[in-house]
Amino acid sequence: MPNTVASSWMSGASRSTDGPEHQVVNPATDEVVATMRLATAADVDEAMAQARAAQPGWGGVTPAERAGVLAELARRIEGATSELVADEVAQTGKTTRLATDFDVPGAVDTTAFFAGAARLLEGKATAEYSADHTSSIRREAAGVVGTVTPWNYPLGMAIWKVMPALAAGCAVVLKPAEITPLTTLTLARLATEAGIPDGVFSVLTGTGPEVGAAISGHPGADVVTFTGSTAVGRQVMANAAARGTRVQLELGGKAPFVVFADADLDAAVHGAVAGALINSGQDCTAATRAIVAPELHDDFVAGVAELMAAVRVGDPTDPATDMGPVVSHRHRDKIAGMVDRAAAAGARIVTGGTVPDGPGAFYPPTLIDGVDEHSEIYRDEVFGPVLTVSTFTDVDDALRRANDTDYGLAASAWTRDVYLAQRASREIHAGCVWINDHIPIISEMPHGGFGASGFGKDMSAYSLEEYLSIKHVMSDITGVAAKEWHRSVFT
Ligand code: NAD
Repeated sequence: MPNTVASSWMSGASRSTDGPEHQVVNPATDEVVATMRLATAADVDEAMAQARAAQPGWGGVTPAERAGVLAELARRIEGATSELVADEVAQTGKTTRLATDFDVPGAVDTTAFFAGAARLLEGKATAEYSADHTSSIRREAAGVVGTVTPWNYPLGMAIWKVMPALAAGCAVVLKPAEITPLTTLTLARLATEAGIPDGVFSVLTGTGPEVGAAISGHPGADVVTFTGSTAVGRQVMANAAARGTRVQLELGGKAPFVVFADADLDAAVHGAVAGALINSGQDCTAATRAIVAPELHDDFVAGVAELMAAVRVGDPTDPATDMGPVVSHRHRDKIAGMVDRAAAAGARIVTGGTVPDGPGAFYPPTLIDGVDEHSEIYRDEVFGPVLTVSTFTDVDDALRRANDTDYGLAASAWTRDVYLAQRASREIHAGCVWINDHIPIISEMPHGGFGASGFGKDMSAYSLEEYLSIKHVMSDITGVAAKEWHRSVFT
């Protein structure tokens, strides 16, 4: 029997709402794992009002007190590992191995990082630039944050938005993707148990067009942050722009994976398979376009195809499984459609590319060679376990191809030549360039894209800035400055 759960967490308690009935489905088995009634725009009004009322109190406690609560939250997330892993696997189909080794430890680490960062609110300038005044900088909580998150790393993406906001002293109203709300609701419960005051962090599970749109256009939001697709991100930005609200957007990607002729081929082959298939390829930074030196092309394709064929796809709860399903049948249809159209247009499917029989939204690791630079599969985000391969003529052409995309989230360059590595890292237009690796993200370093991948940063001290307002305070230190200024201007 599926669990009946409340769709929301508001005012420090779970909240049943009276929107349409909704089912959370396990994409590995097609079984319903939870049912709920979704939240509505009226619930957003209520959560925003609670956030506005609660934010000054949370923003007013000392950074050390906020740090203490977030450190306790990090411990409680760690303590809830088995529950979080089970729910993350059930709602997304990602493997227990990935959720245990990556998603939950990452959530703990990022929360612990922002517990420390809460105390780093010093301004960049405090100075006496004029003889009779002194200046200081105050970095104050920006206020109430409305946040909308995606389904690929439901816990992780919520943590990336919520923790810097809470560290800065903001209150947050968050809408998770409605197909994967369970771990975000648990996060809200753990936050209350750790000492986050009621109303400071609310979660409302609802649809994008209703609850997501209500949050992003809400007059109660001082900042709107979003992780998801470029198309929806632009709608969120338009909604926020109608009220002049600050926005931060983490959007799609189409990461190039550039293998130069002197690269360690074996490392590049392993990196390509791991980078393309992580989380069933549903990762905004996943390796999607291998751009390979012609002399390495055949060995690269053979090596990647062999490793991809050896990937064990199946029950995500089995520790021996390397890759689970994609998130839904609907999403699998989208991936399969793009691969089928690539094949019909003349690309060569080296391995994978066929929808398997049986239950679950499974799709095999897929390698596609001979893709046209103008084709859909080369230009659009697939967000599945699919890697294309093409070649380049020289270094200039390799870098041109890497940048031949509207996106600019992440990229990697594979070479043993330190000068070439430096050149690639400068010339590739992306928020992150890995050299001889692809995927690792750490709490201390900023994550965020250029171009169609959005703007602003998650993670690191840079992301705190998204949730702070900078104020200049200037004081007369002589007691006569205002009178002298008045005399010089008006008499
Ligand atoms: P999506 O854009 O379809 O949905 C994201 C969220 O927006 C969901 O909660 C959805 O319900 C909500 N939404 C839908 N319509 C809305 C509307 N009109 N107004 C407000 N909210 C609305 O994305 P997705 O399919 O959940 O996630 C996959 C996408 O997320 C990919 O494009 C991926 O690259 C991107 N992503 C980016 C990053 C990053 O850091 N840049 C990280 C993870 C995922």
